[in-house]
Amino acid sequence: MAELAIVGSQDVDASEWLDNAREVQLPTRDSSVKATVGTLNGYELIVMPRNSSGRPVPPHAIDYRANMDALSRAGVRMVLTTAMVGTLRHSVPNGSMLVLDQFIDFTKDRQFTFFSDDRFGFADMTEPYCPNLRAHMIRAGESLGFHMAPRGCCVCVPGPRFETRAEVRMFAQLGGDVIGHTNGTDCIMAREAGMCFATFAGVITLGAGLSDHDMNAHDWHEPRRQHAARFRKIVGEMTRSLRDSGSDVHVDCRCATAAPIEK
Ligand SMILES: [Zn+2]
Repeated sequence: MAELAIVGSQDVDASEWLDNAREVQLPTRDSSVKATVGTLNGYELIVMPRNSSGRPVPPHAIDYRANMDALSRAGVRMVLTTAMVGTLRHSVPNGSMLVLDQFIDFTKDRQFTFFSDDRFGFADMTEPYCPNLRAHMIRAGESLGFHMAPRGCCVCVPGPRFETRAEVRMFAQLGGDVIGHTNGTDCIMAREAGMCFATFAGVITLGAGLSDHDMNAHDWHEPRRQHAARFRKIVGEMTRSLRDSGSDVHVDCRCATAAPIEK
């Protein structure tokens, strides 16, 4: 089965990118999750919508644990995601691209860990995103001529409401560059499941108070579409190099052993 998976929002219908695509139900501990398996540039991968329920689901109600559980049980070792984010700084304007290297988690009331009984481990989150997979993503972007920030800190908030002006000021002072609803939780679950994880983030809006306009998600359609198209190119480059080199990003990363189960 595939070692690489793409997890995306409705803007990233990556199942359309695949050749020989076939729908599968990937088992989890309790149930199963719908995904698509196929090839891109001759390299096999799994595409999983973050929400496969067939109806709109707010970010705090997404079953992050089931998604990463299903991918881990399927044998996936590398997870690539995209994040459509707001910026917290004028120095990171609309249209910016970042390969995230840190997050700050402000979420609450959502499923945020695999460990809920007496068997648990303490996940090392010093480097929450896989440094090797990030380097691979940065090389892919450079080969495409993309001007990407090789680092970025995403503040993960519950949503679905927007932030206040004071919150945006505070998050920037705390070290956040951009803000989103889903990426931090995806990253935690991937780390606890021992999978390498990297995110290509795109700024699609200014945080509250950074512009004269009201916050309005209706304006996001075109920037989301543009970022999804760039993500497709990044993934295309990465699959090409994985196919040709057989490169194993796990050789010297610690993602697979970062969350050992306590005996
Ligand atoms: Zn790794």
